[in-house]
Amino acid sequence: MAEQEFKPEWAQKDFYAVLGVSKDATADDLKKAYKRLARDNHPDTHPGDDERLEKFKAVAEAYDVVGDPDKRPKYDEMRRLYGSGGGFGGGGGGGGFNDLFGDRARGAGGGGFGDMFGDIFGGGGARRTQQPRRPAKGQDVETSATISFTDALDGVTISLRLTSDAACPTCSGTGGKPGTKPRICPECEGAGYVVSGVGGAFSINETCPGCGGRQLVYDEKCPTCHGSGRGTSARTIQARIPAGVKDGQRIRLRGKGAAGDHGGPAGDLFVVVTVSPHRVFARSGDNLTLDVPVAFDEAALGAEIKVPTLGGAPVTLRLPAGTPNGRTFRVRGRGATRADGTRGDLLATAVVHVPAVLDQPAREALEAYREATAGKPLRAGLFEDAQ
Ligand SMILES: [Zn+2]
Ligand SMILES: [Zn+2]
Repeated sequence: MAEQEFKPEWAQKDFYAVLGVSKDATADDLKKAYKRLARDNHPDTHPGDDERLEKFKAVAEAYDVVGDPDKRPKYDEMRRLYGSGGGFGGGGGGGGFNDLFGDRARGAGGGGFGDMFGDIFGGGGARRTQQPRRPAKGQDVETSATISFTDALDGVTISLRLTSDAACPTCSGTGGKPGTKPRICPECEGAGYVVSGVGGAFSINETCPGCGGRQLVYDEKCPTCHGSGRGTSARTIQARIPAGVKDGQRIRLRGKGAAGDHGGPAGDLFVVVTVSPHRVFARSGDNLTLDVPVAFDEAALGAEIKVPTLGGAPVTLRLPAGTPNGRTFRVRGRGATRADGTRGDLLATAVVHVPAVLDQPAREALEAYREATAGKPLRAGLFEDAQ
């Protein structure tokens, strides 16, 4: 039976290395290498030398496989799929693979590895191979940052500390206690996924909840990650927040997200920016706004008043006599910087201030004012219009 000829543990053995040749060695090279090694380690010429005997056996086993033009391509395929970096970890050398999968590899059907080896090496039925791993873009990552009002206007470079899931450093992501051997996941029989049946023609493959898709389970969990296989890694990156960012805006930084898999590009980083309010300035599009307290007499009589600008020298506003509460004055070019380098305006709004406390001279002055204006009741029109 073809299946019996192939031993699963071969996937863990590098027969080319045993023979000291490269993977693409010609049949002639293999033969020469085998002959030389067999002669050098032959038990007849080195009686009692166990080390050479083991080497002789290993060389014979290796040449039996890769020296056979039928077996060699199947062995290469087996190595490609499972032997090299196939995630079966641990094992090493002799037993590993066989110990883990012996039963199933020998056993009959029912899914799992037995089927796979049967299909590949037995030559029967539909061939199931693992999809080769393709480059995949890394995940997008979202984070948030709070910047000052001024930095939002001018643009700023900030340091962002990002934490992300990475393989647990203790178990390298296997979830098992280092040094212990895994066994095939009983829930998915090593497939890594389970079929959740909706019945009929539809079924969905889901990542196996027993092994998380890792195909193997450990009886003793990793003490660091408690079996999850995940660790947390932190990195700090510099991110440039462009000038003019608004509160709540989501900035996309290309290629600053999670690293890609198998050579794929990194994902993007999204930074949701919170802009701290300024104590006096606020923003309206490209303009800055400012409430300016104005005394009652300044509004009534007119005045020249100084107002601050953001990051520049103060400017003087000329309030005409009779300025009403709430009138807005435009100071050109003292607003937010636009993308093209020009600036919006500063919009200064007069907020007439009513004194809460009056000293004696002020009170007398206002009482005199009341007397002087007594003949022109302010609310006369209100009652006429209310009819
Ligand atoms: Zn499983
Ligand atoms: Zn771990």
